[in-house]
Amino acid sequence: MSTIIETHELVKTYHDGTQALKGINLNVEEGEIIGLIGPNGAGKTTFINLILGLLKPTSGIVKVWNQDSYTLSKVQREKIGFLLSERGLYRDLTVEENLIFWSMLYEMETNHIEKYLKKWNLWEKRKKRVKELSSGMQQKLAVVRVMLTEPSLIIMDEPTSNLDPLVRKEVVDMLKALPRSGKTIFITSHDLFDVERLCTRIALLRKGKIIVNGSLEEIKRELGIERNVKVEISGEINDVVKKSITDKFNAKMQDGHIIFSKDFVNTKKVVKFLVENGINVERVEEERVSLEDLYARVIKEDEE
Ligand code: ADP
Repeated sequence: MSTIIETHELVKTYHDGTQALKGINLNVEEGEIIGLIGPNGAGKTTFINLILGLLKPTSGIVKVWNQDSYTLSKVQREKIGFLLSERGLYRDLTVEENLIFWSMLYEMETNHIEKYLKKWNLWEKRKKRVKELSSGMQQKLAVVRVMLTEPSLIIMDEPTSNLDPLVRKEVVDMLKALPRSGKTIFITSHDLFDVERLCTRIALLRKGKIIVNGSLEEIKRELGIERNVKVEISGEINDVVKKSITDKFNAKMQDGHIIFSKDFVNTKKVVKFLVENGINVERVEEERVSLEDLYARVIKEDEE
């Protein structure tokens, strides 16, 4: 595996003195799908512009393929597919014409466009002008436009924002369907659900600094978030049994019919104990800690 994006103590201060990035150290390896999340103003767009070489760092390093990003050659730039808030579509051209235009810009054959249009359900709309499409359809076309040139590095700023659930799912599926070998994807998103579904690694940016970085599981471990198992029971439970549950198994009881136990090994013992004491166990399930839960926790802790 090789390092595709490398940053070291990356700082960006704008002319008016705004410190958008305050020392970022983040590497992205080939094959990763990394999701950069964070509140508004955290520095996500600034970071993307630095990776794309559209901005120059104030200090520190930002390299793509081991070269300062703002010095990449035309050939190297053509291997980067990017989608920023500006979708890069011509509103008066049709869906098909837009894709033909992009293929020609990249000096590519145009005969594979049909395949893309059919695969992503845009075939019926190919003769429609972009301005006649819904915002969701335009975004889908913009994603297809990026993929059409088969870039090895894909960078997208908020690819799923403001989309209806179906188109959102389609866009996530499109990115997920890309072959992983030789491709690296870097996205920013407000939508934590999408990031959770799509990304192999997540970095949380806040006030110009990365405060958490890793897979969802690694982040949970780092933050010391335990996996609770929820045991649902029915019927009456007497005080002696209740006390044993808390004292003997270190589990917590809620509302008289839900028990939270630390892990599956401990839960097995709890369930056995309950059954032996004639209590009905209705359901046993792992409590899911979503990226949204983590995000809320980290941002809240950071503010306290
Ligand atoms: P995000 O994408 O996470 O919302 P941005 O990178 O857009 O964050 O912005 C980070 C910070 O830099 C914000 O405080 C924003 O107001 C500021 N900023 C962004 N662009 C400029 C600019 N061109 N000049 C001055 N400040 C800017």
